[in-house]
Amino acid sequence: MHAMVLRQLGQPLEWRELPDRLPARGEIRIRVLACGVCRTDLHVVDGELPDPKLPIIPGHEIVGRIDAVGADVHDLHIGERVGIPWLGHTCGVCPYCRSDHENLCDAPIFTGYTRDGGFATAVVADARFAFPLGELGSDVALAPLLCAGLIGWRSLSSAGEARKLGIYGFGAAAHIVAQVARWQGRSVFAFTRPGDTASQSFASSMGCTWAGGSDEMPPEPLDAAIVFAPVGGLVPLALKAVHKGGRVVCGGIHMSDIPSFPYRLLWEERQIVSVANLTRQDGLDFLRLAPEMGIVTRTTSYPLQKANQALADLRAGRFEGAAVLVP
Ligand SMILES: [Zn+2]
Ligand SMILES: [Zn+2]
Repeated sequence: MHAMVLRQLGQPLEWRELPDRLPARGEIRIRVLACGVCRTDLHVVDGELPDPKLPIIPGHEIVGRIDAVGADVHDLHIGERVGIPWLGHTCGVCPYCRSDHENLCDAPIFTGYTRDGGFATAVVADARFAFPLGELGSDVALAPLLCAGLIGWRSLSSAGEARKLGIYGFGAAAHIVAQVARWQGRSVFAFTRPGDTASQSFASSMGCTWAGGSDEMPPEPLDAAIVFAPVGGLVPLALKAVHKGGRVVCGGIHMSDIPSFPYRLLWEERQIVSVANLTRQDGLDFLRLAPEMGIVTRTTSYPLQKANQALADLRAGRFEGAAVLVP
């Protein structure tokens, strides 16, 4: 197999030939057909997340076909198309696993962070954490659903019943969430970097009611807001934009420090919460509904060997929607 490998934090990924791995008990091996590039991959490469496995193959929005099956795997078959998400393994016995909060597991393994991921021609995964994808939709179009879609879905659930929903940072997750929210009958207000008219018109084309700069106030107070951009300074701005009792959901895994702000912004039962990882139930719920919701992902494809270019373009905001690597 071949892979783009991160050997040292902060360094470019390196194209490497590696020995083929056989799936162990309970594992499957997948021939990768497409793998999305997520902002979390940037955080891994930049060393912003603690204790990554090194060297590591990043990538946790994997679409591929099973080409080998380990012992004790009964419900997945060679040739089947599956998706492999960020949550790669949980312990099953900690208090979180035992109370339907496996997203908070005390001893988790994460794809592309603490086990090798999908910036490769093949990947081995725990079969219990693979999602059957069926045959509907192209590999590239489905890849961003595996993290941007799933984390977006969990963030949206956490926002509650909000009819008027703000989204700060209009990238891969936001462009999927906006479509889900509209399908649910919500109005979406998109906040981008000030002056980023390209992202604002992209947000409008995705059905957003309003799009403007993060330094602007929405035309009316919001019920809730989701912050996807990894910028702590957006949290007080989002608190300002929601009305009494409103909720601000932080959807990213890493964010710059949140600056201090006057208590009156939090007063009147406003809330700040974060969303961490996903549960397998999130994945099943979302992927079952995705075709019905008619989600259309905007993707920019790169050959696998151009992974460094894809990461650089994501960092610089050089495309709308999501980048996807194709081996
Ligand atoms: Zn656990
Ligand atoms: Zn991700």
